[in-house]
Amino acid sequence: MTEVNFSDYHLSSEIMKAIEMLGYKSPTRVQQEVIPALLHHRDIIVKSQTGSGKTASFAIPICHMTAWEENKPQALVITPTRELAIQVKEDIFNIGRFKRLKVPAIYGKSPFYNQEKELKQKTHIVAGTPGRIIDHLDRATLDTSNIRFLIIDEADEMLNMGFIEQIEAIIAKLPAERITVLLSATMPKGIQELCAKYMNRPIMVEVEETNTTADRIYQERYSVEARDKLKLLKDITIVENPESCIIFCNTKQMVDALQHELARNNYSCEKIHGGMEQRDRLRIMNDFKQGYFRYLVATDVAARGIDIDNISLVINYDIPQDSESYVHRIGRTGRVNNTGKAISFATKNDDKYLGAIQQYIGKEIPLKDKPGIDAVKDLREQFMEKMTSSPVLKQAKGTRLNKEILKLHINAGKKTKMRPVDIVGTLCNIKGITAEDIGIINIADVSTFVEILNNKGELVYRELQKTPIKGRLRKVSKADTGR
Ligand code: AMP
Repeated sequence: MTEVNFSDYHLSSEIMKAIEMLGYKSPTRVQQEVIPALLHHRDIIVKSQTGSGKTASFAIPICHMTAWEENKPQALVITPTRELAIQVKEDIFNIGRFKRLKVPAIYGKSPFYNQEKELKQKTHIVAGTPGRIIDHLDRATLDTSNIRFLIIDEADEMLNMGFIEQIEAIIAKLPAERITVLLSATMPKGIQELCAKYMNRPIMVEVEETNTTADRIYQERYSVEARDKLKLLKDITIVENPESCIIFCNTKQMVDALQHELARNNYSCEKIHGGMEQRDRLRIMNDFKQGYFRYLVATDVAARGIDIDNISLVINYDIPQDSESYVHRIGRTGRVNNTGKAISFATKNDDKYLGAIQQYIGKEIPLKDKPGIDAVKDLREQFMEKMTSSPVLKQAKGTRLNKEILKLHINAGKKTKMRPVDIVGTLCNIKGITAEDIGIINIADVSTFVEILNNKGELVYRELQKTPIKGRLRKVSKADTGR
């Protein structure tokens, strides 16, 4: 078989540059199917797991086909959860960065007004959750008249969460002339019906996973009494001594209790569950991604679609009661070409769930003997060493992209009638700067943020100390690196 390269797709240089900087060497199997089909304007049903590179499979062609000049949104991505909306936004943003694509995420429990303001400006691709998308449609703050692409991500999860009616309500507000891509790990009847109703001669892409999540991940289980779980967890963590680990529980209460207990025992650990504020959940996920702490105790909110590299171990402290959750949970380890390990604790009462899971994944999960006292004793010292050393911090995705970019803050905005053309005009008059070097411009009421690309930020920063913008010298400073 000849090797497939991204260069085969004739993508624009801005997109190719982003792909290169994200470190994607060649398209994954799902990308090899979806990218060309979408570039040929076909509706596509993608049956694939997270971790297969599915987000980039639609993000790359959509970013390529999006017209920068157009002000109204051209693509809408619907995701079941806020976390996924944010992650999809970031993935698309990273791919469309050199094309200066604006990609707001709209989701609940976050101020409506800020999203409304963002949507009022130039917007290319919107990612959001069903409820909040409908709110924006009802209040006419999301203009769908130019939507050419609709992406329904994790459709089976939307079905589980009862979002199908809302999806249909959203589709009713979109132009009929559009391309629809639906992604789903499984194809239950409700999803097949949705496809039949709203898609136009879709191509079915089902990447035969020779190497499915479940195969890539080394799985084991322990038989344990409920009251002995904590002791077993401590022993297992000593023996496994993972670099980073997610411990799943079935309820918020259990997450609270277990995290409290582990923290009391000096584990570097935090928790995440649906009862926490959105802001805290995001912060915890980000800190975990970057490796600020080693153990994350979580409910299933952390299991779906969330992309964290290099988690070496997943522990099901409580075995999940539905088999799909099992696959999603263990899929947090063994991401794209990595291997990983998943350990499940099962009590006698869990037999029926365990049976269903084994049937679902098509194999038996090997039963292991609990670690012996001697093994635990021998490995304790190494464990303590890691426990007291600071974790190695990982780079956030897109860090390399960020390095070439400096974001500047200009102390003038809409109130002083600042417009993008004023900024672009001034910057292009600086020697050595062209429109290619100017990234995203965000004009707020009294301030403006502008990204300077291609390592030219320092030059622009220096020049703007003595160059007037719109007739006056403005206070210009370097903004936080965060977006
Ligand atoms: P997803 O299946 O969309 O959750 O993607 C899983 C991970 O694969 C993400 O971290 C992507 O950044 C990464 N990824 C996507 N495409 C590629 C590629 N062609 N090569 C390597 N990694 C990729």
